[in-house]
Amino acid sequence: MTLGYSGMADTSWLDDLAVERLEMVLEQADADGRLLSEGEHVSGPAATEYKTRVRQAAHFAGRTITQVRNVQRLLASADPAIYHGDGMTCVWRPETALCRKARTDQGLPHNDIPEQSECRSTCANLAYTDRDISQVHDRHHALTAAATDQLAPRPLRDRAQAIADQLGAIIGRHERARPSVQPCHPNDCEDDEPPAP
Ligand code: SF4
Repeated sequence: MTLGYSGMADTSWLDDLAVERLEMVLEQADADGRLLSEGEHVSGPAATEYKTRVRQAAHFAGRTITQVRNVQRLLASADPAIYHGDGMTCVWRPETALCRKARTDQGLPHNDIPEQSECRSTCANLAYTDRDISQVHDRHHALTAAATDQLAPRPLRDRAQAIADQLGAIIGRHERARPSVQPCHPNDCEDDEPPAP
């Protein structure tokens, strides 16, 4: 509507969006690479892929851009397709994206980007950085308090406890997979976790 409504067909502001997105992607790749090299721990089924993409993106040394279409091209090649969400990180790969599959199965359109509101805990694209786990800790703390609130209705307390248990499991797997930490039980291991001998 914005493009066709009210006269002037000047669409150059879309070019600005591409430049803004490129800057955001490069800044994020820089921050992720720095934290990874400083020892940030990453867990989850996509942890290995996360580290691979971050290290590849960190090699970008900069390039002079003179035309907008070069921005689009650079964005396509430099974007590691890593999306930091609320207490989780999506290492986007459409073939294994369960949110995308859910929309496809319902006959709904998808935009080939993560749908965090429909995120599935069993998705192979999930990774958890230490930053994510810090947010998960906060939510776990709040939900544990809600689960013991005697003034709240029983169903709400039960639901809060169930979600707190799920978050606690995520935190536990993350900490067990941390290098030099006790190995996990073989039935409870993530892909990149060291199983008990
Ligand atoms: S389900 Fe979650 S982790 Fe998987 S692709 Fe969608 S947003 Fe990413």
